[in-house]
Amino acid sequence: MPELTDLSVRQALDALRRGEISSLALTQACLARIDRLDPAVHAFLTRTSDLAVQQAGAADRRLVAHRAGRDEGPLPPLLGLPLAVKDVLAVEGIRCTCGSKILENFIPPYTATSVERLLAAGVVIVGKTNTDEFAMGSSTENSAYGPSHNPWNLEHVPGGSSGGSAAAVASRMVPAAVGSDTGGSVRQPASYCGVTGLKPTYGRVSRYGLVAYGSSLDAVGAFGRTAEDVALLFELMAGRDARDATSMDVAVPAIRLDPDPSLAGMRIGVPKEYFIAGIQPEVEAGVRQAVAQLEALGASVREVSLPYTEYALPVYYLIAPAEASANLARYDGVRFGLREQSAQVLDQYKRTRGAGFGAEVKRRIMLGTYALSAGYYDAYYGQAQKVRTLIKRDFEQAFTQVDAIATPVAPTTAFRIGEHGDDPLSMYLEDVFTLPTNLAGVPGLAFPVGFDARGLPVGMQLMGPHFREEILFRIAHAYQQVTGWHQKAPLV
Ligand code: GLN
Repeated sequence: MPELTDLSVRQALDALRRGEISSLALTQACLARIDRLDPAVHAFLTRTSDLAVQQAGAADRRLVAHRAGRDEGPLPPLLGLPLAVKDVLAVEGIRCTCGSKILENFIPPYTATSVERLLAAGVVIVGKTNTDEFAMGSSTENSAYGPSHNPWNLEHVPGGSSGGSAAAVASRMVPAAVGSDTGGSVRQPASYCGVTGLKPTYGRVSRYGLVAYGSSLDAVGAFGRTAEDVALLFELMAGRDARDATSMDVAVPAIRLDPDPSLAGMRIGVPKEYFIAGIQPEVEAGVRQAVAQLEALGASVREVSLPYTEYALPVYYLIAPAEASANLARYDGVRFGLREQSAQVLDQYKRTRGAGFGAEVKRRIMLGTYALSAGYYDAYYGQAQKVRTLIKRDFEQAFTQVDAIATPVAPTTAFRIGEHGDDPLSMYLEDVFTLPTNLAGVPGLAFPVGFDARGLPVGMQLMGPHFREEILFRIAHAYQQVTGWHQKAPLV
């Protein structure tokens, strides 16, 4: 039997069902590993050990009763599985900071639908993970509570903004975690940390209870070590929710992953616009090799073109800050979290927001407010929306020719903490390959395909048509059947 913390979601669930392990033992192994490693990795902002032990005990009672034939109904599919949740998703009664001082003591009175569905499926919540403040960033350095560290090299960032969730899964503190992705925040940290991460189709997973950043871009996604594990979580989170008007009423197919890794009949496109100057040669080589592997499994590979790719970055950095500036208006010291008292209400707003928000959040609010102001709205925001439509059409056009598109996740592997410190624009460039999917609303899956010379993971991204996540899982699962990158563990 491998170490408990080495078990994948699938393996853990099978062992729990068979009674070979208990949820309490598994949960305590996770908590002990967090105790040991988190002082160095800093993946967690809040630990919920007491709750976890209580949930694990309840899961064990149900598992025992079921095996003894005393529990009639079907067992919840994830019963007893430890899980970490990014600290931008509300869980009733547990502090939710969004990595910001302004919400330092905010305890939500309700639970995000995505998490509620996982709880109904039996998960055990071990804690809330670190994030760039309000999910704005690509490194988790923008957290008001200090950066997370990459388990493969503690001097490097884990990526962001869901860096805490990615680092927790990579360092085997938990078998799986939940995150959010507005422009790459699940896929890019998954890639930097060598784990598998999904950004679903926009509207596929309810955003209710996800603290809003860019409402037309935000998606709740999941991390695991294998595509199969991420698919298990995704299936349960997805589906229409009456509490999110943008969640779609599209059936969620049960994802069946074939043990036969053949990809015969699968058409994969490689867009020339994603192999640009400035890309780290080892990233390009790793992705090209992985594409060759997919071809060896029977997929047909062809070049495709997504001509508007170069506009994704400027378009995103108009639309996301514009929506953020509106979404963040609610933090005024009256209803939530921090309040800097003043006799004058306007002064109270100013002081609260001045003290509560960090530099990057303030920058985004200023950018967004400017882009939305009278006189500039049409020139910036309106124009960006038009170009967004062209980017979406690029994908529609490409998906008439291929079933999925394969690209790098980011131009580089994990950079050093502080490397992009005084140059926000160079940091924004890390998102150049992940932003287009959020603008188009299509799903994207990141998974490890190798390492660079410094031993840092290289990731590949698969993008698919709207609501066709199962294609991405099928391809990544086939790849993971015949390669071992996803099984490598950092020596933290
Ligand atoms: N890095 C991008 C940003 O800062 C994307 C972040 C995200 O996906 N939440 O906006």
